[in-house]
Amino acid sequence: MAMAITIEDMAAFCKKKGIVYPNSEIYGGMAGFFDYGPLGIEIINNIKREWWKTFVQSREDIVGIDGSIICHPKVWKASGHVDNFEDVMLTCSRCKNKVRADTFIEEQTGIAADGFTVEMINNAVSENKLSCPKCKSEFEKANDFNLMFKTNVGPLQDESSLAYLRPETAQLIFANFKLVSENSRLKLPFGIAQVGKAFRNEISPRNFLFRCREFEQMEIEYFIRKDMFDSCPWVSEVMSHEISVYSAEMQEKGQQQKQMTIKQALEKGIIMSPWHAYFLAINHQWFINLGTRPEHFRIRQHLKTEKSHYATDTWDLEYNFPFGYKELQGIADRGTFDLDQHIKHSKKDMSLFDEEKKEKVIPMVVAEPSLGVGRAFLVFLFDAYDDDKERGNIVLHLHPRLAPYKAAVFPLVNKLDDKAREIFSMLKQDFHVIYDRSGSIGRRYARADEQGIPFCVTIDFDTENDSSVTVRDRDSTKQERVSLNGLKDYLCKKLI
Ligand code: ATP
Repeated sequence: MAMAITIEDMAAFCKKKGIVYPNSEIYGGMAGFFDYGPLGIEIINNIKREWWKTFVQSREDIVGIDGSIICHPKVWKASGHVDNFEDVMLTCSRCKNKVRADTFIEEQTGIAADGFTVEMINNAVSENKLSCPKCKSEFEKANDFNLMFKTNVGPLQDESSLAYLRPETAQLIFANFKLVSENSRLKLPFGIAQVGKAFRNEISPRNFLFRCREFEQMEIEYFIRKDMFDSCPWVSEVMSHEISVYSAEMQEKGQQQKQMTIKQALEKGIIMSPWHAYFLAINHQWFINLGTRPEHFRIRQHLKTEKSHYATDTWDLEYNFPFGYKELQGIADRGTFDLDQHIKHSKKDMSLFDEEKKEKVIPMVVAEPSLGVGRAFLVFLFDAYDDDKERGNIVLHLHPRLAPYKAAVFPLVNKLDDKAREIFSMLKQDFHVIYDRSGSIGRRYARADEQGIPFCVTIDFDTENDSSVTVRDRDSTKQERVSLNGLKDYLCKKLI
């Protein structure tokens, strides 16, 4: 159904339809920053709401927080971000063009260079005779570049007031860990979730929303007692779930990814932790339940060189973007790294009293599913986008729960405006609907298709007599006569 388009075409479509705009374009734009337009804000709010519903509200074991963007700089010292949150940068000796070294090397040579040290990058550059993509001159020696945005808090603009815009939401969960667990009376295992902005001064932002400097994350830190590592109480629910698996070993041996069930991946020891298996499966299911195609995803294990400074094992849920399989969501196992660090730096007791064991424990993070909202947004748009040649227009087959408007209301002719507005007002009480009276009905259907609106409700000359309207389904284009009395119920059932 969905047609493959490039990321550039997607960006152009989004701008044209009021989904996403390049930031401050009237001043020439600002690389790595984007603004969501009238349709985009609705879609993105729906994505976040669906995520919250699935991963927080429908579970007993996960609660949420909303931490602030700026916090005490010691948080970032303790977490390791001040010292380690770096990418290696290459600078051209002549034109001073800067590129992110690992992605550049991978594009030029196919070598997976994520996690390479400065020395490994310098070696790869000289062995492969790589030069500046702009002017072809040699690169200077590579150097580390810290990705955190700095700012000053308060009137003193010196080192003492230095603070950072948070580069991830996770640390606010750790910093509040003790209070949240006590207030919510949570017992291990449990999770704390957060949705919010993160900022990274990416060296080469690109691929539209995929890599920006300001973006949002939907994250869970899932805590267990160490002896719970081998037993995830819910893994049995996902054993038969099928997914394409690309382990570190498969990558090292040059093999292809393999489709298998979670049960097979666990039994063969490909995925070591049942918790990882569980979170990878339920996140894949979340995307599928919202209308994406299962075969567009795979899970990939990080190679030893790739792992972040805190992680002992990491799997990514990846999506096959037009520019290849790329990380959508990282699921790291952070052990007790973060809580240990915060205990050390804050000198506060962050342990919990475990009722079952009757002892104090420092819980470990067995999984940290961390999903970029913008990347999820792109996945839903790519899977929904369809250049329908028969209709002669684009159709966005967005899942009704993600659609920006649930229905469009049309008077067949302007004379029917009053009656149509009455019906529009009635629907507006319960649904986000849009009113459109301009152009032919065909033109209005096409406009609704392009906005991903699942239903069009047309008021015609018969409406006064039979108290019914015509409802047209976006995906099938089928039309049904629906009585006004039953219209809300009809839409409710269809919009689930
Ligand atoms: P990458 O290797 O692509 O730079 P990462 O491994 O540094 O990503 P994490 O720190 O694991 O990313 O962040 C968790 C999630 O946040 C990612 O899976 C992604 O969905 C999102 N994310 C990270 N960086 C960006 C960015 N610059 N722009 C948009 N989303 C991002």
